[in-house]
Amino acid sequence: MASMLANLPSVRGLLQEKVSLGRRCWFGSGGPAEVLFIPEDMDDLVGFLRNVRDDAKITVLGAMSNVLIRSNGIRGVVIILGDWFKKIFIENDILEVGAAVHCGELSAAAMDRELGGLEFLAGIPGTVGGAIKMNAGCHGLEIANALMECEAVTLTGQVKWFKISEMGFGYRTSKISDELIVTRAWFRGIPNADYSISKRVKELSSKRSSDQPTNAKTCGSTFKNPEGKKAWELIEAAGCRGMRFGGAAISDKHCNFIVNENNATPEDIETLGEKVIEKVLENSGVRLEWEVIRLGDR
Ligand SMILES: Cc1cc2nc3c(=O)[nH]c(=O)nc-3n(C[C@H](O)[C@H](O)[C@H](O)COP(=O)(O)OP(=O)(O)OC[C@H]3O[C@@H](n4cnc5c(N)ncnc54)[C@H](O)[C@@H]3O)c2cc1C
Repeated sequence: MASMLANLPSVRGLLQEKVSLGRRCWFGSGGPAEVLFIPEDMDDLVGFLRNVRDDAKITVLGAMSNVLIRSNGIRGVVIILGDWFKKIFIENDILEVGAAVHCGELSAAAMDRELGGLEFLAGIPGTVGGAIKMNAGCHGLEIANALMECEAVTLTGQVKWFKISEMGFGYRTSKISDELIVTRAWFRGIPNADYSISKRVKELSSKRSSDQPTNAKTCGSTFKNPEGKKAWELIEAAGCRGMRFGGAAISDKHCNFIVNENNATPEDIETLGEKVIEKVLENSGVRLEWEVIRLGDR
């Protein structure tokens, strides 16, 4: 069969066919990328997008801490931003951050400069790009609370800037469409915070390790909290704590977490999730909505 690479623009970064993503995913299980592109820098990314065929299927991924990739993998080109997108510049209270920077690194950089307001990001294992797309948050705060604007590239290679008011943030959603790749973001930290930033980071991370299976192969909260309700309470009430399918299990520690306990396939994880949705619906009349994004062919 003809190589797909022959039909793709030439690049300076990594462009490789049939790349396994399973071990890179937080679930520790998942299908391959038909092609993986890790751009060398912004020009490489923009050049690729301007020259790739209009009908090419493109998916951007970050740390893969909120995605379940089905066994047959993702068709087309998966783009993961590389080292060039991992820079942080700080001037006064403004942090300019590449989209591949991990939320924990951003939180630590702010702490080092005694800038408050970003402590809650310490325990979120995603990248800044993924966190903006998902409006990630915890402990009553979301990325939207500290973000000012972001830069993104369209799939046709146009660079655009969005103010916070244009990003349409909601609970674990944004209007950053699948046609946009976030490349950079600007955050405002709080100078002269009237509390100890490092103490707050420590408190939040110890709360997280006591409430959640932090060392497990998981993607965090599987389902969104329905309006006015907690997903974990509905799951518990439906008798799903500890439920298993194949190698996947509902965590004993936090029943909105599915964990890959014993070589679970992506289908084990998805089937277990669907069974939980059914049981919760039967028990409470509420249909849970996946927070984890399921990608690829079954
Ligand atoms: C142990 C654990 C704990 C977690 N705790 C929390 C929590 O407290 N709060 C919370 O909100 N989430 C939590 N999560 C989920 C996850 O970390 C967040 O959703 C995170 O923001 C996802 O970022 P990512 O880089 O891993 O994105 P991915 O999982 O790689 O992708 C998620 C989505 O973002 C898109 N995306 C990724 N990068 C970009 C980009 N550069 N531009 C545009 N779109 C992009 C992808 O296409 C996909 O649609 C947790 C996950 C784990 C494993």
